[in-house]
Amino acid sequence: MGIQKHKVVIIGGNFAGISALKELNRKHSKDLDITVIDPEPHFTWTPNIHEILSGTKDEESVEITREKLVSSLGANFLKGAVKALDSISKTLLLNDGDSLSYDACILCCGNKALKPDNAQGFTFKNAADVALIKQSLDEQLASKDRVAVTIIGGGFSGVEALGELLRHYKHNRNIELTLIDSGSRLLKSQPTVVATDISQLCEEYGVELIFEQRVQNSTNNTLTLTNGTHLHSDITIWTVGSTLPDFLNRGSAPSMEERINIDGTLQLTDSTGVFIAGDVAPFLWENHLLPKQSYYAQDMGQIAAHNVRCLLENHPLATFKPSPKPVLIAFGDLNTYMVSGNLVLASPSLAATKEALYQLGMFKLMASFPLHMRKKAALSRLLNSTKTLLIPQLNLSLPSKLLLRSRILQRGKLKDLNALIRSAYATLFP
Ligand SMILES: Cc1cc2nc3c(=O)[nH]c(=O)nc-3n(C[C@H](O)[C@H](O)[C@H](O)COP(=O)(O)OP(=O)(O)OC[C@H]3O[C@@H](n4cnc5c(N)ncnc54)[C@H](O)[C@@H]3O)c2cc1C
Repeated sequence: MGIQKHKVVIIGGNFAGISALKELNRKHSKDLDITVIDPEPHFTWTPNIHEILSGTKDEESVEITREKLVSSLGANFLKGAVKALDSISKTLLLNDGDSLSYDACILCCGNKALKPDNAQGFTFKNAADVALIKQSLDEQLASKDRVAVTIIGGGFSGVEALGELLRHYKHNRNIELTLIDSGSRLLKSQPTVVATDISQLCEEYGVELIFEQRVQNSTNNTLTLTNGTHLHSDITIWTVGSTLPDFLNRGSAPSMEERINIDGTLQLTDSTGVFIAGDVAPFLWENHLLPKQSYYAQDMGQIAAHNVRCLLENHPLATFKPSPKPVLIAFGDLNTYMVSGNLVLASPSLAATKEALYQLGMFKLMASFPLHMRKKAALSRLLNSTKTLLIPQLNLSLPSKLLLRSRILQRGKLKDLNALIRSAYATLFP
């Protein structure tokens, strides 16, 4: 008679989910029956999807077939979405009506892009969204004299989207770029010097920045702002944040951390055996929500999976302890910023760091694939980046431009430099 295996279900198979799966698979888990559920057929390297807007990347170059990835890591892949979670009976209800039982489960389902009901425009959450925007923009540019593109939201996604539009279209006189934000500046969570530098570049390239205004209505290619102004917009891109997936959006509390209660081990306080990791986890760190970044999603996925195993084996659970990590913000080919605490560096050449993280990350993700497949995929990504990034950058980055834009925008403390060095070391030698 075969041994009874514990059923572990991972809901969502992107950064957090795949990291959790790798951790569970690290010990060649013959005692576990692991299933990854996700409605989308591809793993997506989201930190570089904005580059699809400029044609620097295409959908294929940021995606890996999820079924292959999951099965190469010893688990079953189920294409579907979870519709409900019953933590009493330990059952998941799927959107096709099927149900699935679990002994332990990890919520890695990310967040849903926010866009007001009935509002016109595109969200900016996955590769397909961005490819659709690019297609629509190119079609409209081919048939109209003037195309107005409006980005709503001046956070990471909005700024990186704007940078990519400038990379490709800054010399195109038929395009008109506007960014609207309800705050008083770009990138509210980052040091002011970054926002100031990017705002100067926006002015140089004719981008209109509108602050302290919300879009109240968006129909018939017209945006109505809180002050009553009407703006024409042919393409509207919503990057105003995200909310919990529908099946977790229970209760009426205003904030995510009030709707989902988790403890330091990433377990839901009201549901034993249910852990949470990645963007969906409202983890409080130093009185703030942990930033929604792929490296934190991966770290959380790893701890959640470790704790699943501890729980099933009756061992004490580990506590998740994030460590400070530098943030890279790309603004097309105009500049890239590295922020580590108070230390802020700016240089177009830092774009190579972001590209290296992507190349290395995709290569590592495919570690369990047959060698010939890894080599072929890595070569294709490298050739593509050489053609679309390196060669244009060599032409553009005349030493004078590079020197002008490479600066220490703000000096930090010794601990900020330490965090940067530690993080670089951990990336290269995990
Ligand atoms: C434009 C953009 C730029 C970014 N740039 C950076 C960057 O430079 N650096 C960085 O570190 N981070 C960046 N991020 C953030 C980073 O992408 C996220 O932190 C990371 O993707 C979070 O991983 P995750 O696995 O938690 O969630 P996600 O990557 O969102 O994955 C969630 C998965 O769950 C699946 N899912 C959703 N609902 C269900 C359901 N009901 N049932 C089953 N499956 C479900 C989804 O299909 C998806 O595959 C960027 C994000 C965007 C959008």
